[in-house]
Amino acid sequence: MNGATNCVFCNIASGQIPSLKIFEDETIFAFLDISPLAEGHLLVVPKKHYVSLADMPEDQVAALTRHLPRLMRAVMGAVGAEGCNILQNNGRSAGQEVQHVHWHVIPRSADDGLGYRWNASSYAEGRDEKVQKDVLAALTVHAH
Ligand code: AMP
Ligand code: ZN
Repeated sequence: MNGATNCVFCNIASGQIPSLKIFEDETIFAFLDISPLAEGHLLVVPKKHYVSLADMPEDQVAALTRHLPRLMRAVMGAVGAEGCNILQNNGRSAGQEVQHVHWHVIPRSADDGLGYRWNASSYAEGRDEKVQKDVLAALTVHAH
């Protein structure tokens, strides 16, 4: 079975919960976000249930993300946006509320008032090299 019966995005992808559909093929489903950050705010989801991007096979990620440039151009053109954020939250600590992996396509304009306010920090002396070493070691464990 592809879907999780109690998952809102599985039920949207299968048509059991109504949505304003924008695009569908055999592996992905795109629809308007019900509580948009801006008009045209889309969600793009795999039809198969994965919680996180980290759970997805690479070919499934490729099958989904190849549609993003075209969907983004269509949304931006339709609403007259100058820019676009592609946002993808994994885990509750990262702001993921729906536990079915999804990509937000959020059209932006200079005067939209949404802002972009992440507070960058900096590394203490030597800490960046330690982090680089740790990530490189982890990458060898998490090979394809
Ligand atoms: P996230 O916080 O990244 O998990 O985003 C979840 C998104 O799903 C939010 O932007 C919600 O507005 C949206 N959402 C939740 N339920 C529905 C629904 N039934 N139809 C369309 N969008 C939904
Ligand atoms: Zn699901």
